[in-house]
Amino acid sequence: MTERLIIIGSGPSGLTAAIYAARAELHPLLIEGMEAGGQLMLTTDVENYPGFPDGVMGPEMMDLFRKQAEKFGTRIINGDVTDVDFTQRPFVVRVGDTEYRADSVIVSTGASARWLDVPGEARLRGHGVSACATCDGFFFKDREIVVVGGGDSAMEESLFLTKFASKVTIVHRRDEFRASKIMANRALEHPKIDVRWNSVVTEILGDDTVEAVLLRNVLTDETEAFPTEGVFMAIGHDPNTKLFAGKLDLDAQGYLRTFGNTSTSVEGVFGAGDVVDRVYRQAVTAAGMGCEAAIDAERWLENQE
Ligand code: NAP
Repeated sequence: MTERLIIIGSGPSGLTAAIYAARAELHPLLIEGMEAGGQLMLTTDVENYPGFPDGVMGPEMMDLFRKQAEKFGTRIINGDVTDVDFTQRPFVVRVGDTEYRADSVIVSTGASARWLDVPGEARLRGHGVSACATCDGFFFKDREIVVVGGGDSAMEESLFLTKFASKVTIVHRRDEFRASKIMANRALEHPKIDVRWNSVVTEILGDDTVEAVLLRNVLTDETEAFPTEGVFMAIGHDPNTKLFAGKLDLDAQGYLRTFGNTSTSVEGVFGAGDVVDRVYRQAVTAAGMGCEAAIDAERWLENQE
C-alpha cells in the first residue's frame, strides 16, 4: 500500500503538518521518532505560545497537538526511521525491517540542543538547567545565572537574559569569543554581564534546583564551586539530518535546505521546523512551517494527478 503522505517527526512542525494534512484528507502516516514530541518535552512551562494565556507545560502541549492530529485521522507510529530511499517513487521510508511507501514526505525531524554531558545536567534539566533563554529566561527574575558558550547564541541569550537576571556570567572555554565582534562587544560592555574566560563547567550542583556549578580553569586546572541559580547552555544545536546526508541537500551545518517554499532538493519531499530553521527555533514558528509544508505537499500531490 502506498501512503499519500508520510511525516517524519512529532514536534510542533510534524504534528501541525499532520493536522492540516489529515483535514485535507491525505490520511497522513506520522512516524514519531524516539524523542517523540521533540524539544518541548524537555521544557516545563511554555508561556509564549499564543492561545495559552496561563501558560502550558511543554509535554502537555505536545499531547494536545497529538490528540488534535489523531482526531482528524492521523495514524501515528512509534519508532525511529532508520533509512529512506528518495531515488524512486513512491518514496521508501524504513523503520527497522518495516518498509513504508509514500507519494510525498514531510521531514520534520527537528534539531537537538547540544548539552555538556556533565554530572547534574540531565537531572536538573527544567529545574534551573535550560537550553532556551527565550523559553525559560522569565523564570530567573533577579537571579544570578550562568550562560555557557562563546558564539552568537551565547551573546544573544546573555543579552536577553539581562532583562530578567540580576547578573549573567558567561563561561567560555577559550580566551576569545567565536561570536561576531558586534555581538561580543555588546555583551562585554553590558554592566550586568561578566565573563569567566578559559573555564569549563564540570558539574552542576543542587538537590531539587541548581545551586552552583563547578568551574575548572583550563589553564590553571583550579576548580571552584560558583554559586548560581540557573545554567543556560548555548553551545550550539545540531539538526537531526544524519539520515538524509547524501539524499537531500543540506547546508554546511547540516540543516535541510529548502527552495522557495518548503520544497527540498527532491520533488515531493518537504521540510519544516527546526531541521530547516537555524534562526527562530520557536514552537510557534515550527508549527507555522508545518502548516506550510502540509499545504505545499497537498498542492504538489494535486498537481501530480
Ligand atoms: P556556534 O557558533 O557553533 O558556537 C558555539 C559556542 O559554544 C562556541 O563558542 C564553542 O566554543 C562553544 N562550545 C561548543 N561545544 C562546547 C562544549 N562542549 N563545551 C563548552 N563550550 C562549547 O553556535 P551558535 O552560537 O549557536 O551559533 C550557530 C550559528 O547561528 C552561527 O553561525 C551564528 O553566527 C548564528 N547565530 C547568529 C545570531 C545573530 O546573528 N543574531 C544569533 C545566534 C546564532 P569554541 O568557540 O571554543 O568552539
